[in-house]
Amino acid sequence: MDKKKLIIILSVLVFILLCCTSFLVFHKNLKFELNGKQNISVDVNDSFKDEKVLACYGNVFSCKKIKYQIIGKVDTKKLGTYKIKYKIKFKNKTKTITRTVKVVDKKMPTLTINTKDITVCPNGKLKNYDYKAQDNLDGDLTEKVKVKLEYDKVIFEVKDSSNNVAQKSFTYKKEDTNNPEISLNGSNKVYSLIGEAYNEQGVNVSDDCSDNLGSQVKISGSVNINAPGTYPITYEVVDEAGNSAKVTRNVVVYQKNVDVTPREKTIYLTFDDGPGAHTERLLDVLKKYNVKATFFVTNQYPVYENMITRAYNEGHAIGLHSYTHNYAFVYSSVDNYFNDLQNVSDKVKRLTGYESKLVRFPGGGSNTVSRKYTPGIMSTLASELEVRGYKYFDWNIVSGDAGETKSTAQIIVNVTSNLKNGYSIVLQHDVKSYSVDAVEAIIQYGLTNGYNFAPLDITSPGAHQRINN
Ligand code: ZN
Repeated sequence: MDKKKLIIILSVLVFILLCCTSFLVFHKNLKFELNGKQNISVDVNDSFKDEKVLACYGNVFSCKKIKYQIIGKVDTKKLGTYKIKYKIKFKNKTKTITRTVKVVDKKMPTLTINTKDITVCPNGKLKNYDYKAQDNLDGDLTEKVKVKLEYDKVIFEVKDSSNNVAQKSFTYKKEDTNNPEISLNGSNKVYSLIGEAYNEQGVNVSDDCSDNLGSQVKISGSVNINAPGTYPITYEVVDEAGNSAKVTRNVVVYQKNVDVTPREKTIYLTFDDGPGAHTERLLDVLKKYNVKATFFVTNQYPVYENMITRAYNEGHAIGLHSYTHNYAFVYSSVDNYFNDLQNVSDKVKRLTGYESKLVRFPGGGSNTVSRKYTPGIMSTLASELEVRGYKYFDWNIVSGDAGETKSTAQIIVNVTSNLKNGYSIVLQHDVKSYSVDAVEAIIQYGLTNGYNFAPLDITSPGAHQRINN
């Protein structure tokens, strides 16, 4: 080959090289490609960040960004295969790239065992271990944890809805050092009325190793239902390993009302507006506890008037409330008031032979109704009653049965929570069933808390409220 030919060939080669280089350097290109991987797998509830695409037009010196559209979304809270499409429009052509994201559940639940020393009952029974299982997809799986005994290990196992399994195992000791648990059914202090059968409510027993310990409770102590006093009853139970537990209940046998002489802590139960449909039932309750009360009677329900006779014969005080219980009539004049009072007094005398001097005003001494009919009449009546040898009584405990409440439970609370250390005159109405229903609980409370019950007499305190006319 001669020199000339070689120069020509070399020149052609240099020319081609220059052409290619300048083409590469100056020619503009579209770049449209994924950042990151095309197929991605992400665990459920983990975060996923879309790395998107590179989309630009230019050469090696500069590449101008091109807007693109993203179609599709990944919900990392839901298992599934998601497609994200990136779309550009360039020179009237549309190009699309797709990325696939799989939301999968490969994580096993987290199993936490909080019990320090894993022990098993001597009889092989598993105990109540403290554990917790939490899963990234299913949430709390504690309920699904299975505990089993295998050879020398206690195994805790839990599987999530994607079948990922978490397992923990512990070597164990056989041991029972826990005492049984014993608790009283009912209160640790119960009251039993003298002469009435004592109702044994028993206990509740549980143990981590021994079953059916309930039948092995030993009860010691006894109640003499005929002698007032406090009787301790002890309940004891021993489990298979010799661990024991006991609990005591005091049974207080209390007496009926024995003392009707007013003293510190005396309760005067008073019932207005009757007798009525519930008076007989009330008298039965009072009789059961030997409680003497006071009835301020009316003629509103004459069909029940024989209850006045019964009440009197059973030692209750009979007071005069009103014959008509008609405010408009009794408070329209002093004469009308005393005519009405005479009528109810005559009725009581006819039924009992007794002339009562105990009075309770309709509405009480502090009523504000009477002024509507005769202003100032209460002051006149109060002093006139005294002149005529009567004594009127108000109250210092309101049961609430006059209208504030129809709840027996509330009446019981209203009375028992307001009892005085001196005397308590309680206002109730024996024409109201829900109020009569409260009486037994009020008596039980009184008798078991150091109170006695007495009927009013002419020497009793009047508990007068301020006259308000
Ligand atoms: Zn009344």
